[in-house]
Formats: sequence, C-alpha cells, structure tokens
Amino acid sequence: MQFIKKYWLSTSILITIIGLLITYAVKPSLFDFILKPSQRTIYERNFKDSPEKLLRWNNLLSNAVKDQVVVNNSIAEQVVTSNEKPFTAGYLINLKLGEVLMSTVDLQDSWILEARNLSGDLLQDAQLKNNALVLNYTPNKDIKIRVILQAKLETESQTEFKIYTAPQYDFPVAGKGNSAIQSFWGASRGGGSRKHEGNDVFAPKGHPVVAITYGTVSSIRNRGLGGKQVWVKDYDNGYLHYYAHLDDWIVKEGDMVWSGDTLGYVGNTGNAKNTPPHLHFGIYKNGSAVDPKPFIWRTQVPENTITLPQLINPRANGFAANLRTEPSSSSDILQDVKTAPVTIIGNTGNWYHVRTSAGLSGYMHKSVLVEK
Ligand SMILES: [Zn+2]
Repeated sequence: MQFIKKYWLSTSILITIIGLLITYAVKPSLFDFILKPSQRTIYERNFKDSPEKLLRWNNLLSNAVKDQVVVNNSIAEQVVTSNEKPFTAGYLINLKLGEVLMSTVDLQDSWILEARNLSGDLLQDAQLKNNALVLNYTPNKDIKIRVILQAKLETESQTEFKIYTAPQYDFPVAGKGNSAIQSFWGASRGGGSRKHEGNDVFAPKGHPVVAITYGTVSSIRNRGLGGKQVWVKDYDNGYLHYYAHLDDWIVKEGDMVWSGDTLGYVGNTGNAKNTPPHLHFGIYKNGSAVDPKPFIWRTQVPENTITLPQLINPRANGFAANLRTEPSSSSDILQDVKTAPVTIIGNTGNWYHVRTSAGLSGYMHKSVLVEK
C-alpha cells in the first residue's frame, strides 16, 4: 500500500512537471508573470520573420555594446529609424552614487531601451509609462554604464530620445536649491587637519530643514562639532542622513518622516557658532561619509531645440571631418572620416549622430557632412 501511494505521488509530480514544461514550450508567455522576461526576449520570441533577419538584428546589438559615444551629464537627441536602416546605438555615461539614471524614448512600440554594464550584461530594462519607455536606474556605487537604444525591425519613426540624471533625494532646505550650497565635499577644515564630509546649505536662521525622503528619525543629539543634530535612517536604501547646526528640532527619536516634512530649523549651533547660519548636510553609508551632492543636486531635463535636415546620401566633406565621442568640438576624436559615406541615425543641436560603414558610431558637426 505504502509503495503504491509513493508511486502515485511521484508519478503525479512527474506528470505535473512534464505538463508545465509542455505548456512553457507551447505558450511561454503564460509564465511571464513569474519569469519576467526582458522586452528583447519577448520581441525575439514573437519574431515571425526569417531567422536570418533576427540574427542580423542581434548583430546590430553586438555593435552597439562597443559604441564609444559618451554622454556628459545629459543628451536630448532626435533619433531616426527606417526599414532599410534600423537604429541601434550605445551611449556611455558615468553615474555617481546618489545619481539616478533617467532615459526616455517616445513611441514605445518601436523600441528596446536598456541599461547594460560594460561587459554587456543587462542591468535594467525600460518600463512603459504614458506611451513612452522609461529607464530609471539607481546605482549603489559610482559606475560607468552603457544605455542601449535599438529599434524593432519594420518600424519607421523619428523620435525624441533623452538620457540624463536626477538626484535620488529631494532638497534638505525648504524652498532652496543648488545655489544655496556654498561649501562642498572635501573642502579643507580644521586648518587642513580634516576634510569637509558634507555640503553646507546656507539659509536664514529659522528656515525649515526638511526630510529628503521617507525614513525614521534614528537619533537626536546636541553635542560636538554638529551642535543640534537630527539623524534620519533611510531603511529602503541603507543610508543615514545627518542634519547639523540646527537652531532647534521639532521631531523626536522614532518618528517616521516623509519627504518635505520639517525636521527643525537652520541655525549655527556647534562649531558653526561664528559663521552665518547654515545646514551641514551629510550622508553615511555603512558608517562612512559619502559625498551628498549627487543625492540632492537639482538637474534639468534636456531638450533638443534643433532638428537638422535628413541628408539622403551623406558623406564627410574631407575637411576636418572628425567623428567625435560627444556632440562637442572639444570631445575626443574617434576617427577622421575624410570623404567616406556615413549613415545619419540622429541629431542633437547642430551635430549629427552617425555610423560609418565600418560600424563606428559618433557625432559629426553639420558643417562637415554634405550630400554625396
Ligand atoms: Zn559643513
């Protein structure tokens, strides 16, 4: 009896597993809610055209993961894709701890948008938001990554594409912004004996100091260099926020606070007693201070104000026809293209984003490209 029971149990488990495997083979999308495949995987899975076409499309990605185009803070580009010339490009960007990578492309049905590390591994797949694809990637260390934008095949479009960074947190002094920070990380302190481990945000005495994110007041102190100080723990990200030189506080230990909640008021307690009132603001990770500036520094969403004409058969004009890493004449030169033909894949301001026939991608000023 015991044997038969065991036998039936293992047989039914086996049948269930085989059933699941068959279902997965026939209709893998039924498992998407568990396996969460990338947009790329879903696109490849549903690709009905010839396998050779898909292979060529995959090869475009292996070009893009080697692209040496650099984004210096931000870029807004008009990107172009067509049946004959499907768009694929990689963009390198340095992210500092505290900066959130943002990247958006309109017309989500036509594009794949991804953040990858320098080995080419996927870090984040863009999510759909209001008919746009959006990347929103928060690193846990300083890191260089590559944003990949690739058009799906058989699409024709000219679309707005952006890469920029945003601070991870809100600003710690109500109604103030970047210009109120007047002493930065690393400045000399104590006659050169130590370095400034925070940012000083200047505001009149009594101005509200606010929480920069959701967290818990972990301690309140009145002592030492910081004077009256409030510490807030951001449990979601593991950071401690330090608000010092306060005139006074209005929270107590254990309070939960939300972004924008008043913690206390700007003052000059502690070793700031002979300086104008300011907030000393610091962030600690695993007990060590990190530069708080990228966490709170306000940035702007870039706009591309010029749409350049699409040349039909563009080639370089042979005079200082430099392909560059950035849309700027002070950026690195990747190659002197001389008079070679190129493919225009986008533009930002007066610069075309092009790809050479050898597969090299970069920026060329509009003045060096002519109709063949
Ligand atoms: Zn300070």
